[in-house]
Order: sequence, then C-alpha cells, then structure tokens
Amino acid sequence: METNRHRGPERIAVLGSGPALASEDRDNTYFLFESVAGSLFIDCAGSPFHKLLKVGADPNELAGVMLTHSHPDHLYGLPSLVHELWLHGRRETLHVFANESTHRVSRDLLDVFQLRSKPLPLEWHVIPNDEEYPLLETDRYLVQTTPVRHEVPTCGVRITSFETGKVAAFSADTSPCPELISLARGADLLFHECSVDEPHPFHSTPEGVGEVAAEADVGQVILVHCHHNLVKEPYLSIAKISKRYHGEIRFAEDFDVYGL
Ligand SMILES: [Zn+2]
Ligand SMILES: [Zn+2]
Repeated sequence: METNRHRGPERIAVLGSGPALASEDRDNTYFLFESVAGSLFIDCAGSPFHKLLKVGADPNELAGVMLTHSHPDHLYGLPSLVHELWLHGRRETLHVFANESTHRVSRDLLDVFQLRSKPLPLEWHVIPNDEEYPLLETDRYLVQTTPVRHEVPTCGVRITSFETGKVAAFSADTSPCPELISLARGADLLFHECSVDEPHPFHSTPEGVGEVAAEADVGQVILVHCHHNLVKEPYLSIAKISKRYHGEIRFAEDFDVYGL
C-alpha cells in the first residue's frame, strides 16, 4: 500500500485486553498489527475505527481483518469497521480472513446492515484447518495460522517480521494444546488468553499458560482475555504461571503497543 510515512518497524497495538465480559478498564480482546506493508486487525471488537486512530495508525494502510473465531466478543465490530472505512473515503478492497464457520457468521452480520458487497468491496479468504498455514506473506512479514481448541473452530496466529526476525504469537481462545505450542515455538512475544482459574475444555488457566509458554520457549508472555479475578490478584496468577515458565510475564492493558 502507498504511504508517505517513514518505513518503521512493525508493531502490535492491544485494542482491548479483557474477556468476553468487558469491564470499565478492559474492552474485549483484539489487536491491530501495524505495518507499512499492510496492517491487519486480529479480531474486531468495539469501535475499531476509533481505536485505530487512537493508537496513531493510518487507516489507509489497513489491508484486512483476520478473525480467529465466531464468538461475538471477537467479531462484532466488523460491520462498524466496514461502514466507517467507507465513510472515511476508502474504496479499496478490504480483505477478510477467517475459517469457514466464522465466515458464515461474518457474512450474516454484514447482511443485517447490507454491507457485505457494497459500498466497500470485501475479498474473503478462507483459513483452512492446516497447521502453520501460510495465510499471508508480504515483503515485510509472514502470517501463519493453526487450529486451536475452543468451543467453535478457532485459529491461533503467528506473525514473523522479516526485518527484525522477531515473532509474535496469539493463542486466540483455547485450552492449552500441542498445536499452539508448535505455533508459538520460539516466539519473542506470546499473547495468551487466561480466562479461567480451574481447568476448562475451551480456555486456559494460569498454570496452562505457563505450560504452553515453557514448552514453546517464548521470550515473553503477555496475558490477554483475562478473567477479572485473575487481574485483581495479578501476583497469584504470575506465581502460578512461574511454576513452569521463567521468562517475563505481563498483563496487557488496553492501548499497550509492542514493537515487533
Ligand atoms: Zn473470547
Ligand atoms: Zn471464544
């Protein structure tokens, strides 16, 4: 995409860091991966266009939206984003990446507002069930996806910056699983959900996060989609994660920005 901005390194903005039930301080978890080679939303929750501006990103650099799964807290902002990009003057195609079932829900959601095919052209890309699937490659980065274990079909995401060689991985909503460990292997940053404090078939406990982070040997864990009780007592959660994982652990906050 054309831009006059200085070609800087890629960065990841946390647009929301909370679980499915948002709080005063934490919106539903989603991210903006920003790059002059085309920025990507990773999921799309509340007020996406406003938040894109708030983190200082350029709407003209937005290439697309990657949706990890079809739960409302991960995609309900999509019609708003499409509508506001059009109001902003965009006429260039917006790419939407999602697995089959998430596509269906997204299309239905856009149809409610008659936004699916016009005025903003959308190009749909289906994410297959393959592990470490090369979803998107530009001259600056590679995006890969892997199915993880959640209530509905869900994809974890790995982004590699070619300039710095750094890697960020995103668990999406999942219980700890070997597929995620492979996807996150050696990542510098792992954005991991931590939604429950008791073992759960579809979500991760602090102990589970520690297991994935240790097995994948990541540089840093950034906790997102955290249950409010876990955020209230951060030292307890960090102690549980630290039983297995000895790297840096942080709780993400809304509008944090990480360089890649
Ligand atoms: Zn969720
Ligand atoms: Zn979910």
